[in-house]
Amino acid sequence: MNALDDVIDAFTRLPGIGKKSAARISYHLLSRPEHEVAELAHSISVLHERIHACPLCAAFTEHDPCDICSDPHRDKSLLCVVEHAQDVTTLSRISEYRGLFHVLGGVIAPLDGIGPENLRIGELIQRIKKGDVKEVIFATNPTMEGDTTALYIQNLLQEYPIEITRLASGLPAGGDLEYTDTLTLVRSLRGRSGF
Ligand code: ZN
Repeated sequence: MNALDDVIDAFTRLPGIGKKSAARISYHLLSRPEHEVAELAHSISVLHERIHACPLCAAFTEHDPCDICSDPHRDKSLLCVVEHAQDVTTLSRISEYRGLFHVLGGVIAPLDGIGPENLRIGELIQRIKKGDVKEVIFATNPTMEGDTTALYIQNLLQEYPIEITRLASGLPAGGDLEYTDTLTLVRSLRGRSGF
């Protein structure tokens, strides 16, 4: 294997990139000026060093806490529970939602060996115990695992004096929040209902 094969091989391991695309990107990089490729390599190399999980919500951030958690104009009584950090990016596009977020870090998936103890459920309960939260909105993906996880946590939250809602149907079943258009998300947020 030469250096070009190494790069093609590395791109092939990225999500959604097959061998053909990997080769195309690699040849493209070879055709670009060296400094441009070095800049790209630098951005990638500092990614882990600069970006980490917000200590409160676990969204990706460069600051502690993240821009959303530290925004004084956000409504601290609303907490939207999502599966992954990238879902925060998706939902924070909706200007209609002015609350905070909580990233679970996945969903309960016994076949993949992921149980409730692997998710940030304890952290969620700690946040609720502080007393600011009045409504928890579940925005897990409309999949079987997403629904099961929301239901499981909803049962744990019964003892707290909060309203618990779920994004309205209208989201494509089995779909992914990340790829849902903004209008559908806004409708789903407006039409949210209890369990
Ligand atoms: Zn945060």
